[in-house]
Amino acid sequence: MQLQLSELHQFEAGGNPFVYLVPSGGIFALDDLSRRTIEVLKQRPREAVDLLEELVAGGAGREQARNCIEELVATRALEPAGGRQAAVDEAPAAFPLQTLVINLTNQCNLSCQYCYEFGEDKVATPEGKPKFMEFETAKQSVDFLFAEAGSRKQVHITFFGGETLMNFPLLKRIVDYSRQEAAQRGVAIDYSLTTNATLLRPEIIEYLSENAIGVTVSMDGPKELNDQLRVFANGKGSYDIIVPKVKELLRQHRTRPIAARVTLTSGVRDVIGIFRHLKEEIGFHEVGFAPVTTSPNRLYAIGEKGLDDVLAQFEQLAYEYRDYALRGELHGFSNVSDTLSELHQGISKSHPCGAGLGLLGVGPSGDISPCHRFVDSDTHKLGHVSEGLDREKQQEFLKHGHIHAKYDCHSCWARPLCAGGCYHEAFVRYGDTGHANLHYCDWIRGWTDLCLRIYGEIATQNPGFLKHFDQRKAA
Ligand code: SF4
Ligand code: SF4
Repeated sequence: MQLQLSELHQFEAGGNPFVYLVPSGGIFALDDLSRRTIEVLKQRPREAVDLLEELVAGGAGREQARNCIEELVATRALEPAGGRQAAVDEAPAAFPLQTLVINLTNQCNLSCQYCYEFGEDKVATPEGKPKFMEFETAKQSVDFLFAEAGSRKQVHITFFGGETLMNFPLLKRIVDYSRQEAAQRGVAIDYSLTTNATLLRPEIIEYLSENAIGVTVSMDGPKELNDQLRVFANGKGSYDIIVPKVKELLRQHRTRPIAARVTLTSGVRDVIGIFRHLKEEIGFHEVGFAPVTTSPNRLYAIGEKGLDDVLAQFEQLAYEYRDYALRGELHGFSNVSDTLSELHQGISKSHPCGAGLGLLGVGPSGDISPCHRFVDSDTHKLGHVSEGLDREKQQEFLKHGHIHAKYDCHSCWARPLCAGGCYHEAFVRYGDTGHANLHYCDWIRGWTDLCLRIYGEIATQNPGFLKHFDQRKAA
């Protein structure tokens, strides 16, 4: 049998060689002999017997060399020449729903200039639709979630807006109703929400804590940065209003970690300063960052140079994360945790995220969308909660977004985690949800390589820390 290298990415962690196997998402440390085997096969494919003889001629014992080849074949680092297979299968036709993102309202009391819902790049067409969800629609949404969850024993509801807390009474009714329904079905349910924090009050905080509702606060760092774009309609910044409320939230909500979510823009790029402020001065448990989703010509878009600067700061924080992890401590930079979690679970994606698959969004009107970023958009509607999913449209969306359809990605070693990137970003940038986010490739590969190196170091020096990623789901 002729053997060749399968698709793999080599990297070093703490001075030790590793490989990341693209078809399986596996990560392996290499001993001297397996590294030599890979180097030999890098030159050209070999008959297995010739490979064995070459390793023996290089000083390896015959039995040792045979075991090494067998192990590399078993782990799929080596494969029969010409026998390359597709990395992932087609998405199953009926995938059980796990998470429903319910947009309680499309109204917001802030006017953040980069908002994907209201800003210049918005995809929503809310005209003539309800601004606030009615209880009847909410009930239908919950029924829809359970009906689509199939035999899942755990489901999740995320509350979203607009500003989520502008419809807090409905949130409480949904929790009551869905909890009853879940108990009757013997299904576990949990909840989370995203908020701009302006409307937090002691009784709301108490309710969120009592009901173990996870909270993510959208906030962009210290006052001078946060208030650049996170403003009220009159242009006034939101920082002074939200900080006392966030501090109260962090003091009183003891049942779930509280996260901050930062949107990076051309003028808000001091990643390290923002992290220090939100984590150490304000006290968030986790802080995650994402560059703004926008057309490249907007003033607040981050250009290529800006992205390099952001990645360099991400790198610095990621190494800090590693040092914490090696001491067994949690650091709180959630971008690293999310990627390590996917690497640890050996994820190899057919689609970039769960949108349209295990996750769906529902808008105030009851229209179903692939995720919260597409709610209220007629173009992206996948049905209505009173009638169910439009399977044909769902399949069309998933087929279009499948990694098989993204030719640019087929030879990319980072595709098991990236799979072409966010559909919403692709739509805003290229007008097509199925387009690969090619403007981010260097960033994605640089980031994935960095996280692989950190993963390798943790796996070698403090493997017990990786238990944190057994359950964690990327945000
Ligand atoms: S979008 Fe770029 S980084 Fe992502 S899988 Fe495709 S080619 Fe790779
Ligand atoms: S990655 Fe993009 S498409 Fe996927 S759920 Fe998030 S916003 Fe939606």
